[in-house]
Amino acid sequence: FSLLMGVMCGLLSGLLCYYVLSVRLRPGKEITTAIKRNQFSVVYQPVVDAETLQIRGVEALMRWKHPSAGDIPPDAFINFAEAQQLIVPLTRHLFELIAKDAPVLQTLLPPGAKLGINIAPAHLLADSFQQDLRDLSAMLPPNYFQLVLEITERDMLNQRLAMKLFEWLHHEGYEIAIDDFGTGHSALIYLERFSFDYLKIDRGFVNAIGTETVTSPVLDAVLTLARKMSLVTVAEGVETQEQANWLRQHGVNFLQGYWISRPLTLEKLIEAHAKPENYFTTT
Ligand code: C2E
Ligand code: MG
Ligand code: MG
Ligand code: MG
Repeated sequence: FSLLMGVMCGLLSGLLCYYVLSVRLRPGKEITTAIKRNQFSVVYQPVVDAETLQIRGVEALMRWKHPSAGDIPPDAFINFAEAQQLIVPLTRHLFELIAKDAPVLQTLLPPGAKLGINIAPAHLLADSFQQDLRDLSAMLPPNYFQLVLEITERDMLNQRLAMKLFEWLHHEGYEIAIDDFGTGHSALIYLERFSFDYLKIDRGFVNAIGTETVTSPVLDAVLTLARKMSLVTVAEGVETQEQANWLRQHGVNFLQGYWISRPLTLEKLIEAHAKPENYFTTT
C-alpha cells in the first residue's frame, strides 16, 4: 500500500511539476523570448463610416508567429500574458510596434483617424498604465491620431478606480470604447456608470442579422440605448453586404469586419490604400 502511495505521490508531484513548468512558467518565458526575437507583430483592421464606407480608423490587433507552434491567436496568448504578469511588457512592445508604423500609417489615414488599441484588464489596473499611455502618445506624431482604448465589460472590476481612470483618460484626450458589447454581464450598469465614447456591438449580434426572419429585438434595443446615451456605435464582424445594409439603415455609425477588410499588415494596408475599393471587398 505504502509503495502504491509513494508511486501516486511521485506521479502527482511529477504532474504538478510538469504543470508548473509547462503551463505556468514556460509560456511566460516564451513570451519574454518572443518579444526579444521579434515574433510579435501588429495588424490593422480598417473601421469605415457606415454611410460612405470611407476609412475612419483602424484597430490594432496583435499576432504571434511561434517558431514551432505556428500562429497563436491573441485570445490565447493575451490570457497567458495576463496570468504571467507579462501583459505590461507585451503591451509596451505593441506600443513600440505601432509607433514604428505610425509615420506610414499617417500617410494612409486621414487626420484624426481613430487608432483602436485593446487594453487588457490587468494592464488597466497596473501602476504603470498612465505612464505607458503617455509614452505611446509621445512616440506618435503629435495630434494626428485619436487613440481609442477598447475595453471589454468584464474589465471593470474595481469600479471606483476605473471611474477615476476614465476621468483622467478623457481629460488627457483619449477616447474609450466598450468592446464586444452584449457578451458579458451587468453591461447596462456599466453603460450607465462609465462614460464611454463608443459602443462596439459584438459580432454575435451582427452574425444574427439575416439569419432570422425577424431581426433580433435585442440588437434593436441596444441601438436605441446607444442613441439615447449619445454613444457612437461600431459594428464588429460585418461579413456580408446584407448585414452592412441593415446596420446602416438602423443608424450604426461605423462598420468593421471581413466584408470591409480583414486585419492587414502594414504592407497590405499600403496596397489597399493604393486601391481604395479594397476596403469594400472581402479579401
Ligand atoms: P476584439 O478586440 O473584439 O477584436 C476583433 C476580433 O474580431 C479580431 O480577432 C478580428 O480579427 C476579428 N474579426 C474582425 N472582423 C471579423 C469578421 O468579419 N468575422 C470574424 N469572424 N472575425 C472578425 P483577433 O485579432 O483574433 O483578436 C481576438 C481578440 O484578442 C480581440 O478581440 C481582443 O480582445 C484580443 N486582442 C487582440 N490583440 C490584442 C492586443 O494587442 N492587446 C489586447 N489586450 N488584446 C488583444
Ligand atoms: Mg477590440
Ligand atoms: Mg470586439
Ligand atoms: Mg473579442
